[in-house]
Amino acid sequence: MGLHEPIFSLEVFPPRRNASVCSIYDTLDGLEGVKPDFISVTYGTGKHADRTATARICATIGQEYGLAAVAHLTAQYMTREMVDEALDMFEEAGVQAVLPLRGDCVEGREPVGVFTYARDLIDYVHASKPRMKIVAACYPETHPEASSPEADIAHLKEKVDAGAEHLISQLFYSNEDFMRFLDRARAAGISVPIEAGIMPVTRASQVRHMSQTCGSRIPAQVVRMLDKWEDNPQALSEAGIAYASEQICDLLAQGVDGIHLYSMNHPVVTRRIWRNVEPLFVEIPNSTLF
Ligand code: FAD
Repeated sequence: MGLHEPIFSLEVFPPRRNASVCSIYDTLDGLEGVKPDFISVTYGTGKHADRTATARICATIGQEYGLAAVAHLTAQYMTREMVDEALDMFEEAGVQAVLPLRGDCVEGREPVGVFTYARDLIDYVHASKPRMKIVAACYPETHPEASSPEADIAHLKEKVDAGAEHLISQLFYSNEDFMRFLDRARAAGISVPIEAGIMPVTRASQVRHMSQTCGSRIPAQVVRMLDKWEDNPQALSEAGIAYASEQICDLLAQGVDGIHLYSMNHPVVTRRIWRNVEPLFVEIPNSTLF
């Protein structure tokens, strides 16, 4: 199998603690027919998160599904020893690329103080696992805690200069916002591939929550969809599939480097979107990303 041009990737998350671990197999099995260039697996920040889950899911993606996996790793609540342990697990799981993050701040919880920003963790991964490729997060609408859009871009450039070879954006609903960010990133000298993060609208509460926590603006068209079909989940999901497919189509027409679909472990929605947009991606035989 080859890499797509532009790149197409998916994100999954480990099952919640009280959910069956088998649910991740249901998600991955359900993605049959979808051809991502890699699947990234999130890392839980919570005090009680299972710290082995990301590595185990990455191993499954590689060994049982034959796909490249990118392991996320959040660091502000981690000691150096905990990070070493996670990186060793990733290596054993055959992970070739890591997405080092600072992670969200948890109220009332004191950061350890070793890895304050994602960049600190990038430096560390680069030094301790030099063969691992590094992917980093970026924010088209500016990270909510950044002092200014300019400062946020400058910090992003630091992550790239420290070794991030590939960027994945936070979700956004307005392509104009992403294209403006892309122009600003390129003007700041950031030349690595930047994948556009798309999260299909499936539930009104989720869209509002993500908008609050990530600072993603909800455009009037999406507000109208939520108002009209908030109480009709089937209709809202259909509208969400159509909206995400259109968003992807327009981004590809504008020449973006790739699409990262936040699958939210919804294989049916992911498959429907892939079916709509697959012809827009060209497969380059025998090529690999990581
Ligand atoms: P950083 O790049 O460290 O930036 C955080 C803030 O600090 C920004 O405002 C930045 O401008 C500022 N900053 C950076 N450097 C400096 C400096 N030197 N001085 C002053 N300010 C600075 N969360 C999870 O819990 N698990 C996941 O698996 C996960 N995966 C994600 C994947 C993607 C693609 C994205 C976009 C987000 C993900 N998140 C995840 C959420 C992420 O943890 C939060 O957005 C978090 O608040 C920021 O993490 P970061 O690594 O981007 O932070």
